[in-house]
Amino acid sequence: MSREPILRLEGVSKYFGEFTALDSINLEIDEGEFLTIVGPSGSGKTTLIRILVGIEELSNGKIWLWNDRIEAIPANRRPTCMVFQSLALFPHKSVGENIEFPLKLRKQRPENRKARAFELLDLLQLPQSFYQKRINECSGGERQRVALARALAFDPEILFFDEPLSALDFRLRKNLEKELKDLHRRTGKTFVYITHSLEEAMVMSDRIAIMRSGRFEQIAVADEIYARPISRFVAEFMGEVNLFSVKGDDSGNPVGTEIDIQTGGATLDSGMGLVRGALATLMVRPEAVNFLVDDGTADFVVEGVLKAEYALGSRTQYKVKADNGDELAVEKLREDRFFGKVGDRVRLGWNAASAHMITGD
Ligand code: ATP
Repeated sequence: MSREPILRLEGVSKYFGEFTALDSINLEIDEGEFLTIVGPSGSGKTTLIRILVGIEELSNGKIWLWNDRIEAIPANRRPTCMVFQSLALFPHKSVGENIEFPLKLRKQRPENRKARAFELLDLLQLPQSFYQKRINECSGGERQRVALARALAFDPEILFFDEPLSALDFRLRKNLEKELKDLHRRTGKTFVYITHSLEEAMVMSDRIAIMRSGRFEQIAVADEIYARPISRFVAEFMGEVNLFSVKGDDSGNPVGTEIDIQTGGATLDSGMGLVRGALATLMVRPEAVNFLVDDGTADFVVEGVLKAEYALGSRTQYKVKADNGDELAVEKLREDRFFGKVGDRVRLGWNAASAHMITGD
């Protein structure tokens, strides 16, 4: 039996004058899910989340929280909560007072408020002594945790996050990404998160929704988006990738239109079956491309010259210039690295099973 979603959007649109910021969005979010909305700047992420929390009005469409329509309910009467990039904590008040603020609004008794504040300090792994500490004496990461504790004190049905980590330095951000994921698991709450950073989305989310010009281009679990993007846009958004324009040959196999890809007589599985003459994009991730030595073969082969090698810690990345001028990326684990010299002629190969055919642009 499929469960009812906690949040459902149907045909949600937003116009700013002539401009369509959101174009008839449909979305269902399950209770307890961690959904991340990723997209380039201007794709409509913030507009959508502002509509979901009620600080922006939609132009068209319907939003249900469980069975209740909420699009006309003002933000302060919605059982949801937003964690912002700028933290909006009270800087001169103590951590305890900040966390207890929502409970005070609800007129909870002081001893209950304090007990809950201590529970939340524990949950966010902040020392109990922080209860007395002022916000302006806390570090950036500590403030972020206090803001999360305060958001949880509201006990919202859904927590919305608008790029809460983007102002923090790299290491702190990496730690907090993992902490957020753990926090999500410990609380069982529904988290809806927006970010520019696909890496952040990959670490934390159950599902990722990729936004493009006010629409969702693809919504799926991270692995699916990584391995089987539905368009070039999604594939490129998911990091380093090799993409080739191809055309179906007489037997439905892809042949390169711009690059000389030799199909080593591969019979490609039905998932790659291309109609004769159809144009598509063949995608292969750098880690699935191999250097072919001696008379090694593969389903797809490209020849070129090794242009550069970069040590990326546990991996090594290579750039190869194919004979038509296109650049390919190859990545190998350190222990499997290729011992060639820049300037060497190389043959690259990969198998049909690790390639993916994209038909969208
Ligand atoms: P970023 O990642 O840069 O924050 P975003 O994906 O969150 O971008 P939005 O802030 O939702 O994008 O903006 C989507 C589009 O709507 C942009 O082109 C923006 O200029 C436009 N827009 C947003 N708010 C308004 C407004 N109040 N009036 C006019 N246009 C707006």
